[in-house]
Amino acid sequence: MTAQELSGVFCEELIRQELDDTTALFPIPEQIRSFYKMYRPSPLVRAYCLEEKLQTPAKIYYKFEGNNTSGSHKLNSAIAQAYYAKMQGLKGVTTETGAGQWGTALSMACAYLGLDCKVYMVKVSYEQKPFRREVMRTYCASVTPSPSMETAVGRKILAEHPGTTGSLGCAISEAVEVATSTPGYRYVLGSVLNQVLLHQSVIGLEAKAALDKYGIQADVIIGCAGGGSNLGGLIAPFMGQKLRGEADYRIIAVEPSSCPSFTRGKYAYDFCDTGMVCPLAKMYTLGSGFIPAPNHAGGLRYHGMSSTLSQLYHDGLMEAVSVKQTDVFQAAEYFARVEGILPAPESAHAIKVAMDEAIRCRETGEAKTIVFGLTGTGYFDMVAYEKFHDGKMQDYTPSDAELQASLERLPNVNG
Ligand SMILES: *Cc1c(COP(=O)(O)O)cnc(C)c1O
Repeated sequence: MTAQELSGVFCEELIRQELDDTTALFPIPEQIRSFYKMYRPSPLVRAYCLEEKLQTPAKIYYKFEGNNTSGSHKLNSAIAQAYYAKMQGLKGVTTETGAGQWGTALSMACAYLGLDCKVYMVKVSYEQKPFRREVMRTYCASVTPSPSMETAVGRKILAEHPGTTGSLGCAISEAVEVATSTPGYRYVLGSVLNQVLLHQSVIGLEAKAALDKYGIQADVIIGCAGGGSNLGGLIAPFMGQKLRGEADYRIIAVEPSSCPSFTRGKYAYDFCDTGMVCPLAKMYTLGSGFIPAPNHAGGLRYHGMSSTLSQLYHDGLMEAVSVKQTDVFQAAEYFARVEGILPAPESAHAIKVAMDEAIRCRETGEAKTIVFGLTGTGYFDMVAYEKFHDGKMQDYTPSDAELQASLERLPNVNG
């Protein structure tokens, strides 16, 4: 697509970043740098207690992004996106949120810059996560349960499915409608896009600076992958070295076995949203109609994956593994008890695989250096933890037939 075609939906500078595939380094504007000073650099922590408990010769480090009120790495991109919207002279931005981390981050960024923020929150989350909602309202965002009567698409969905609890696809459609029909507003997205990976590369740049400062050479780099933004940001400078032949790393993406885009998806052009209103992207996908089982509580439920990471995976430059959610929560709890931090279920996917690698090192006697991304805290996910503690959490792995049925509905394009 051209910048012109995208300009009704997205902010101009962000479109420029999205479509730019030649500029290696973008300067971080002064105002974004001062905002980052409130919570960055984020700590790169050596997990001594975890190493000791696992009796492993491996050295384990994690880059912790949960040290801000929104509780995750999403604030890194939220402030950049809000900044460019403000510079364009816009009045406000719209977005959707499912679990609520992105909506929270964006409302904090908008409050800081004096920008209006309209969040469409999937109705079931709006009702089940009242505290997330109130955090967003504390930062001046208007939070509307989706589907709503405020938009044509919302009214249509409600007429067809009265009493529906909503979906991310539906919330995206509402947020896009409001952005494109309200003067001075644009739509923003918290993952998947190239621009979001670019903003998140601050994670990798800091991690690399800290490792270099102490002369530490990473062997394995691990991150969870939903839409791919934290992992893309964490690995950016390391992958650069790898591509230039300056260093070699094993890079591992971790995804839930209930939503296995990399490990069981297809590399093809697909819609980025369930509502099929957004442009197509070439990526690993399970099909835009794929919805993970309702008992899936671990996050990372996006059907597709960042195009950038998809290409790297396709070219064999990184690996991917999928893990079951009860194993993820077990790792989360283990980590909380030994390292003190109560992790977001999403982050715990990376913990699980980092622990598996450390245990393998114990068996082989290799003293590898493992670095993983700890993307956030899990205080708003206690309902999921409760399910796990009460033994009510189940694993669900979609069958081949289920995935096949979804993949058969991929749009028919060449490329
Ligand atoms: C949103 C989120 C993720 C997954 O998103 P990516 O774009 O894949 O990084 C992971 N961890 C936390 C805490 C999140 O909020």
